[in-house]
Amino acid sequence: MSNQLNYCEKHKCSKVLVRERSWECKKCLSELLEKVNQEFEENLLKNLLSKKINSIQIPLDLKNKGLDNFQVNDEYDEKIVLRGKEYVDQMIKSNTHLNLLITGPTGVGKSHLAVGILKYCYEQKYFRKFVCYSTSFGLANKVIATWNNHDLNEEDVLREYTEIELLVIDDLGYDDIGKKAEIINKIIYRRHENHKSTIITSNLKVEQIVEYMGSRTSSRFFSHLYADIQIDTEDFRMRRK
Ligand SMILES: [Zn+2]
Repeated sequence: MSNQLNYCEKHKCSKVLVRERSWECKKCLSELLEKVNQEFEENLLKNLLSKKINSIQIPLDLKNKGLDNFQVNDEYDEKIVLRGKEYVDQMIKSNTHLNLLITGPTGVGKSHLAVGILKYCYEQKYFRKFVCYSTSFGLANKVIATWNNHDLNEEDVLREYTEIELLVIDDLGYDDIGKKAEIINKIIYRRHENHKSTIITSNLKVEQIVEYMGSRTSSRFFSHLYADIQIDTEDFRMRRK
């Protein structure tokens, strides 16, 4: 017996009577179930992604920055974004710690690029790893804040920032000299010993960064440098190590 009620035109098959109430096509039902499952998984992934991105501790003015809205004016800018992605891809693929240096004058998008790279990590389902953002002086201040507070322990803060899988230290060389430089260098050094990846952005030139770090830290940081991305508004250059 085949009529419009118990025949599925789409699948060219007979429907079955479900709970003695309605005629349903088994194939249509399983398609529907698959669609619901897929939507559920997509939502789960979206929620996880936004939770993970919240944990990066991105400051408010950088919250909406990503690699997809990095200002691309020419093919060199395209290369910058591509190099950022390649850095993450290489880190995941080789399963090793790699560092990245982003240098250039103020206002060219160094922080934007760094934050975009962190988000890209999670977009690549790098979920099991923990990535984080901090300014250099903010990081140093966090450690210094423990010195006069008996409830806080300097070693705890140092350890926290040594264990993060990928850490952005933004604006190295800005308001972070003297004692603060010692702290930052200690963190960079320990991160290397702990096989963790570090992205540093700075207005300083590479030679000045080497000087800031001192030979002990710089030799370690640069030994695992993936790329030195120099963003320069007029004369853009990019060197790969
Ligand atoms: Zn059907």
